[in-house]
Amino acid sequence: MVLHKIKILPKNIVNKIAAGEIVERPASVVKELVENSLDAESKNISIEVKKAGKQLIRVADDGLGMTPEDAELSCLRHSTSKISSSDDLENIKTLGFRGEALASISSVSNMRVISCIDSKQGATDIYLEGGDIIDKKITGRAKGTTVEVRDLFFNTPARRKFFKTDTTEFSHITNIVGHFILAFPDVEFKLTHGGKNIFNITKDMDLKDRINCVLGKDLFDNLLKIDSVESLFKLHGYISKPEYTRKNRRSQIFFVNKRYIQNSTLSHALYQGYFSLVERGRYPAAVVFMDIKPNQIDVNIHPTKLEIKFLSQSIVHDKFQNAVRQTIQKFKLESGEETNFGSTARIQDNIKTRFDSKNFQKKELSFDFEKSQNIFEELSYDEYLETEQGEFYQLDNTYIVNVFFDKIRITDQHAAHERILYEIFSKAIKEGKIQKQNLLLPERIDLSREDIILLKQKKNLFNKMGFEIEEFGQGSFNIQAIPAILKEKNTKKIFRDILDDIKDLGKGKQNLTEEIVKITACKAAIKAGDKLSVREIQMLLRDLKQCELPFTCPHGRPTQIEIDKRELEKRFHRK
Ligand code: ADP
Ligand code: MG
Repeated sequence: MVLHKIKILPKNIVNKIAAGEIVERPASVVKELVENSLDAESKNISIEVKKAGKQLIRVADDGLGMTPEDAELSCLRHSTSKISSSDDLENIKTLGFRGEALASISSVSNMRVISCIDSKQGATDIYLEGGDIIDKKITGRAKGTTVEVRDLFFNTPARRKFFKTDTTEFSHITNIVGHFILAFPDVEFKLTHGGKNIFNITKDMDLKDRINCVLGKDLFDNLLKIDSVESLFKLHGYISKPEYTRKNRRSQIFFVNKRYIQNSTLSHALYQGYFSLVERGRYPAAVVFMDIKPNQIDVNIHPTKLEIKFLSQSIVHDKFQNAVRQTIQKFKLESGEETNFGSTARIQDNIKTRFDSKNFQKKELSFDFEKSQNIFEELSYDEYLETEQGEFYQLDNTYIVNVFFDKIRITDQHAAHERILYEIFSKAIKEGKIQKQNLLLPERIDLSREDIILLKQKKNLFNKMGFEIEEFGQGSFNIQAIPAILKEKNTKKIFRDILDDIKDLGKGKQNLTEEIVKITACKAAIKAGDKLSVREIQMLLRDLKQCELPFTCPHGRPTQIEIDKRELEKRFHRK
């Protein structure tokens, strides 16, 4: 057996191997160079490309620049100015941090770096071929850095063979530059290809203008602003109106902490956020920025991967989905539109009269705690006419089917009632006007030790909600009053369920009051399978219409779906 001596690999080879990981195609070079410019606090970045980057990529910036020593070091071996200890890794604020991009790129191309930290001192000009310095001199240049990469992969012909057509390679470049344009709204960008101007983005262009340039006017005309602050993250940006969809997800652009990423949790939550408004196989567009604590994400630090994982994936999913829903519902309320599946003139008219700002005033919710014994009040004939026309059916004692002249609306009775009770209940709590219902005979309930502790801890909360519970001794308690919306239905069971649900929520994760309101609304709501009278149905639909966010239940499920003429035409392949 021949034992090979362990050898240290020459640095050229190390760099070439690293290049294989970092530089997949010309667009990857563009990405690394622009990231460096941004990390150097540049406000103006100009990108020049020839032959889709196969011949030349030149990135010039007005950033901090490098000293002669740093300039040389940066393209020779793995070096970075961005982290110096492993602690820094936890808190990376720059785009690059591994210190291997420039050295790797220089090893597989002919590269030139011109950099200046102070225009009075002149600039360093270094020329390398395949990672070896060929020439070094001093020239003139304003503060900033220019990096030129020519003949990418000239010394690794096998990899050059993998280049795709110019069109494909250049489209990767425009994609990447587009993401930077969106993510850094205070930076000016210029991109030219073979001398042709592709992007010319100036400072005065805001995010919306930039979306116009990068993703097109069609989308620009169909944007909804999204803005939301959650316990875990902050969101801002734009999503498309439900009418606007695309064939693929390429127009779903997510930035997490300013970094462009791909993440299936976010795409899925976005899609779900549009509830039934987007057809199968079509995708909404979005340019969304999420700010989240770095310790809440796991960034795969493989340099070409754009994937991240959220530590609390399902919370992020649900909160993002909800933010999308609320944005769409708000838009629909404001535009007085009820459904997106296109409407015939008749419905348009109907909606117009109903929502005309002069005629239409949002009424107080009709549900009244005083009359809580009877959720469904009598409707006057006028009210009935105003509320709904068309015929009602109850399907499987679960869905209310509403047939109109040219559409069918299906309401999930439980989800709808949950939404109504949730809004009434949370409003009452907010205003401190909760209605209690004293029980004629207190209900005795025996609790486990765990439940007793929980109950004592949360006593104030329960009181605020309208529960009155007295200790009876030996783990026994008397429930003397309950929130009026519960209507003495199965008091004990509901109370136990609420305790269990609180336990399931885990510690300090969510707003507890909010969660209990949801649970209580859910328990108090009519169930799937409950037979309803016509009057009850009318009341339910009327109350739903007066909710702030009528289109989803508090958990985010849709309350109603509609199938209209156009949808039918589509399904029966008439059009
Ligand atoms: P990283 O970005 O991971 O630090 P790079 O190989 O991309 O590694 O860059 C190495 C170093 O070169 C950077 O840390 C930075 O100090 C310097 N550098 C590269 N490009 C620029 C630039 N455009 N302006 C200023 N400094 C730069
Ligand atoms: Mg870098």
